[in-house]
Amino acid sequence: MAFSRVAISRFPLFLQSSVSSLIPFSLSPFMLSLQPICRFSLSASLSTQESTPLVESASPRTSNRWKPMCLYYTQGKCTKMDDPIHLERFNHNCSGELKLNAAEFKHIRSQQLDFFLVLDLEGKVEILEFPVLMIDAKTMDVVDFFHRFVRPTEMSEKRINEYIDGKYGKLGVDRVWHDTSIPFKEVIEQFEAWMAQHHLWELGGHLNRAAFVTCGNWDLKTKVPQQCKVSGMKLPPYFMEWINLKDIYLNFYKRRATGMITMMKELQISLLGSHHLGIDDTKNIARVLQRMLTDGALLQITARRNPDSPENVEFLFKNRIR
Ligand SMILES: [Zn+2]
Repeated sequence: MAFSRVAISRFPLFLQSSVSSLIPFSLSPFMLSLQPICRFSLSASLSTQESTPLVESASPRTSNRWKPMCLYYTQGKCTKMDDPIHLERFNHNCSGELKLNAAEFKHIRSQQLDFFLVLDLEGKVEILEFPVLMIDAKTMDVVDFFHRFVRPTEMSEKRINEYIDGKYGKLGVDRVWHDTSIPFKEVIEQFEAWMAQHHLWELGGHLNRAAFVTCGNWDLKTKVPQQCKVSGMKLPPYFMEWINLKDIYLNFYKRRATGMITMMKELQISLLGSHHLGIDDTKNIARVLQRMLTDGALLQITARRNPDSPENVEFLFKNRIR
C-alpha cells in the first residue's frame, strides 16, 4: 500500500451512474455462461484518470488514450484476447506505459543488482492484492509482472464481502477480485514458480541478483510476516531484505518523501490509474524508480532481517524515513 497524505479523488459521479446502468448487461444469459472470464468490462479497473498518451496503439482505430488494465489479463485469466472491443477498452500490455526513451539514459549508473522487483501490497487486515513488477536494472524495462488478488484466510464470507465492497467496489473492480482471488499460500506457491522461471530464486534460497523495492517498510517488515502467521507459513527467506525507495529518495535527493504521491509530485510524474489499486500503485512506484535511476541514483538494500532473529530488522541507512 503506497501510503500518502494526499487524498486522491477517484471515480467521478457521472461514471458511478454509468456503472450502475451497465449492471443488467452483466446478467444476460450469454454472459453468465462464460466463467471465469472478463464477463463484462466493468470487471476490470475502471479508473478514469486521464494522462499523457501512454498506451502503444495496435491499429489506427485504437486511440492512444490511457486505459485501465484488464485485471483478468494481469493474473493470466483473460479469455477475451480475441475480442477487439474488449482489447480496445482495456490495456493488455503492462510494460507499454513504462517504456523509456534512450535519451533518458545519460545519467544512469551501473547497479549492483540485475533486477528490481517492485512490490506494493494492498490490504490492512489481511493481504488482498499481491502485485510485483520485474524491472531490468540496465534497460529499466518491465521484464514481466506477477499479479494476484488474495482471498483472506481468517475472515468470514460476510466480512470479506463488506471488506471488498468497501475497498475495491469504489474502484469498480470488486467482481474481478471475487472471480480471481486465491489464498495467500497459493499466491506464494505461484509467485515462487514465477521467480524460479525467471532464475531469480531457487528453492529455499534468497533472491539471485535481485531485490524487492517497496514504498516504505510496511509491506515486508510488517505485513508479509503477519500474513505468513495467519496463513500458517514460515517467512520465506527471499523476504529477508528489501529496498525502501523512500530512504533512497531521501539520501539521493536530500528531500524527505512521505509517500508515493509526494515523490511523484516532486518529480512531476503524473499519477496513472487508481491510487490504492495495487497493480496501478506498483506501476507508479516503478515510474518513480525509473526516474531515480535515470537521475543517477544507486539502488541498495536499505533493510535486512537478522538471520538468527528474523524479527529484528536492521536499517542500513543512517538517514531514513521513520
Ligand atoms: Zn482481458
